[in-house]
Amino acid sequence: MTLKDRCQPFMQYVHEVKTRGVYPYFRPISRSWGTEVEVEGRRLIMIGSNDYLGLTHDPRVVEASAQAMRRFGTGPGGSRFLCGNLVLHEALEERLATLVGKKKAVVHVTGFSTNLGAIACLLTSQDAIVYDRENHASIFEGCLSSRARLLPFAHNSVAEARRKLAVARERNPQGVHLLITEGVFSMSGDLAPVPELVQLKKSFPGLLVYLDDAHGIGVMGPEGGGTASHFGLTQQVDFIMGTFSKSLASIGGFIAGDDETVLEYLRHNSRPLIFSAALPASNAAAVLACLDIMEKEPGRLARLWEIIRRVRAGYLEIGLTIGESLSPVMPIIIGPEDKAFNLARELFEQGIFAHPAIFPAVPRGQAVIRTAYMSTHEDRQIDYVLETLDKLARKHRIRAIDSPDEDPFAARGTTDSDFFPSLQASGSGRESGK
Ligand code: PMP
Repeated sequence: MTLKDRCQPFMQYVHEVKTRGVYPYFRPISRSWGTEVEVEGRRLIMIGSNDYLGLTHDPRVVEASAQAMRRFGTGPGGSRFLCGNLVLHEALEERLATLVGKKKAVVHVTGFSTNLGAIACLLTSQDAIVYDRENHASIFEGCLSSRARLLPFAHNSVAEARRKLAVARERNPQGVHLLITEGVFSMSGDLAPVPELVQLKKSFPGLLVYLDDAHGIGVMGPEGGGTASHFGLTQQVDFIMGTFSKSLASIGGFIAGDDETVLEYLRHNSRPLIFSAALPASNAAAVLACLDIMEKEPGRLARLWEIIRRVRAGYLEIGLTIGESLSPVMPIIIGPEDKAFNLARELFEQGIFAHPAIFPAVPRGQAVIRTAYMSTHEDRQIDYVLETLDKLARKHRIRAIDSPDEDPFAARGTTDSDFFPSLQASGSGRESGK
């Protein structure tokens, strides 16, 4: 088989979607105001961004970022290990450790490289990783690179996690056992059952829990400290990972924990940290400014939750199927991909930027329109979105009463790929035997 033959079926599909005029990806944005963006000369309300606290356009964040750029230049000039380590990185690590209630944090250049680097350098082929099947692709890449035994469990199934841990204990009795879950799941917006998952430590002494809280930091917990603090379980979670690309209005990522030896080892051995350039000063300074604002202005978080409650109630009133989301991420469950593409196109035509998420980002046959809200959304914008969705939901027959016999969660967990084999690793787990 040639490379071209391998790519052909996927590209054929992309071509067909483009031909139908409903291709929704890689839309070039020519200007952004945060809650609104300009695409193809039209101004649209953005309901897809992860900028949950609406800080990417805050003048204080922009100014802090610009000042850091003037002081340190536009690029880091090397990896943190060598000549790219800045006082800003170290200050940021201290602030982040405090935010999530851990002793030490290590900053990476993205959230993806944090998961990849941390998991791959801490685990070895003697170890076992038990993880939620709907975890992010970066976690899965870290797991694969570690060469540990991989034992996925059905989304949020504590019972299956327990069974898989028993397998890990039997097959890798001497190794490290790590349980990995997201705090707020990036596609469904639902929360991990953290209290029940950390309880498993009682039955499996030595078990370590790793929480990817990319979507929880800044949003969950009384001060935005994340999902572990929301549940009051910071001490029971061993590693808390977060990104700057959501609430923290930048790019970058970090991992925090209480074992300083392990974290310092990670700092010297995470390959993306050692062999990739450091986070630019302007990005680090933006995060520091966001942390200041979060401390000074708790009203931002309160406003975000007001919006979340309002939109959730609005979606239910329209009759949309929205799952169990308890976060700013509120996917509208559609089912067939075509239907999701058509709806996203029509939302675009009506002045709303929202994108569909299809397999492998979500289980096969479970396409969603992934909507996400920001604390800076204005009431008039939310009114318009809800009115438009009400109209389009009837037209596209996506309300729960339009297909009463369908169980929207029936396909959950079926992330196997036969059509896009090259994408199988993204977000879909599999068990590896040795
Ligand atoms: N983990 C989760 C759960 C995510 O959703 C993402 C990004 N969407 C990442 C990690 C990667 O973060 P980043 O964008 O900072 O690379």
